[in-house]
Amino acid sequence: MSTASINSWCLTSVSPSKRSSPPTLRPSSVVASLNSSVSPPTLIRNQPVFAAPAPILYPSRKGEEMGKDYNEAIESLKKLLSEKEELKTTAAAKVEQITAELQTASSSDPKAFDPVEKIKSGFIHFKKEKYDKNPALYSELSKGQSPKFMVFACSDSRVCPSHVLDFQPGEAFVVRNVANMVPPFDKTKYSGVGAAVEYAVLHLKVEYIVVIGHSACGGIKGLIDFIEDWVKVCYPARTKILAAHANSPFPDLCTECEKEAVNVSLGHLLTYPFVRDGLVNKTLGLKGGYYDFVKGSFELWGLEYSLSPSLSVKDVATILHWKL
Ligand SMILES: [Zn+2]
Repeated sequence: MSTASINSWCLTSVSPSKRSSPPTLRPSSVVASLNSSVSPPTLIRNQPVFAAPAPILYPSRKGEEMGKDYNEAIESLKKLLSEKEELKTTAAAKVEQITAELQTASSSDPKAFDPVEKIKSGFIHFKKEKYDKNPALYSELSKGQSPKFMVFACSDSRVCPSHVLDFQPGEAFVVRNVANMVPPFDKTKYSGVGAAVEYAVLHLKVEYIVVIGHSACGGIKGLIDFIEDWVKVCYPARTKILAAHANSPFPDLCTECEKEAVNVSLGHLLTYPFVRDGLVNKTLGLKGGYYDFVKGSFELWGLEYSLSPSLSVKDVATILHWKL
């Protein structure tokens, strides 16, 4: 499937012809490549993602012995420079560098967030506790994937479906975007999402597509409040909820809209020809979900639809509800 539109900000280099100007590359660094047609998000600049870690200084000795070595080192440096004047410029530069390193080391907070260390320790934990302990699973996954679920979830950092629903690697093909929205079928406008749905349904042959909304969704708040461009995808949810709950407090409107937007997305899925085929042939099912991380509950519901003359959502019935 095409990844061009999905990965507008992918961490790989692109061919020079796609750039308006060549990026500044540093050796051994991963660079966020930018599509020249759009302005980069604030947090993604054309700079190395991984930089060399700050130098770590390990004092080899402590106390008096260290002091003695220091004095000896200074004396020998003085002696060398008195014998070879031409080395003074180089020595000055090196002393300046060492001074800067020592200042950094002495002022750095050991509890300060270190992104490289976080990623490194996270992967080491995964490798030891998951990967190395499940050789059969990872050997199987190395040959391919056949997930039963395609999941749409919000990009919100609190709602990762693999955590919330305990999906293991290989179990769910996941698309995450702001407010977990599925746009209507459109070969060009939303080709990224369309390609993902097509790949999941036709190639991976997932059995269920689940759209999961969640509590306190900033994207849905944006749909009701100031209507950002992307969330217009589910504008019908806003219209319906505002009409039905006009006098409700804002938080209640948001909760209703978070759930209704899921239904609008399920309706949009019916506009995808291969999704319709899957429903008609009963090889595919659609489900809506709602994770409330304030209450610690999860709802799951099915979709009732009319298969003819044109597929349309008739009603949405809650079929299961958990509050654990
Ligand atoms: Zn959200």
